[in-house]
Amino acid sequence: ADLDAVIKAGIRDIPDFPSEGVLFKDITPLLADPVSLRTVVAALAGPHRAGGVDAVVGLEARGFILAAPVALELDAGFVPVRKAGKLPAETYRESYHLEYGTATVEMHVDAIAPGDRVLIVDDVLATGGTGRAAVDLVRKAGGTVVGFSVLLELGFLSGRGKLTDVDVSALTAA
Ligand code: IMP
Repeated sequence: ADLDAVIKAGIRDIPDFPSEGVLFKDITPLLADPVSLRTVVAALAGPHRAGGVDAVVGLEARGFILAAPVALELDAGFVPVRKAGKLPAETYRESYHLEYGTATVEMHVDAIAPGDRVLIVDDVLATGGTGRAAVDLVRKAGGTVVGFSVLLELGFLSGRGKLTDVDVSALTAA
């Protein structure tokens, strides 16, 4: 089967999670299948193999699962972007708006060196707020964002509109 079919087969819809009216895309079946997992990691890394990537940034929490093996494939390091209050050393912070309230994410100030080439990886691109914040964190540290890559893009939420200055790529869209 082609990549799109492999991914779609591994993602299930969970209605009303985490709250009423939300249709949650659950990627855990995909992660649990050895062939799908390997295929997806290779597909995320593929376009960047000759790209001189120094670091792969993963976004908490499901982004970590994909970003670390992508980093290994690219001989790059792994850097976590976490929700506020989780990282122990000095951090840069970025806040963004959610439907209700705000969210804040952080990255260690010494995680990326000026001039580093950085690929950002997450599972799902929804409204784009998380991706936008991650791009801004990497740039605060002086890094060059070579791409923002996700497994699944929820096109109807138009997250790409917040990331017009970044090379956004999604393995599949819904
Ligand atoms: P955004 O900031 O609205 O683009 O939301 C993206 C973040 O929320 C990512 O870190 C995703 O892990 C998570 N997310 C949003 N919707 C879903 C979903 O349907 N399934 C899994 N994760 C989701």
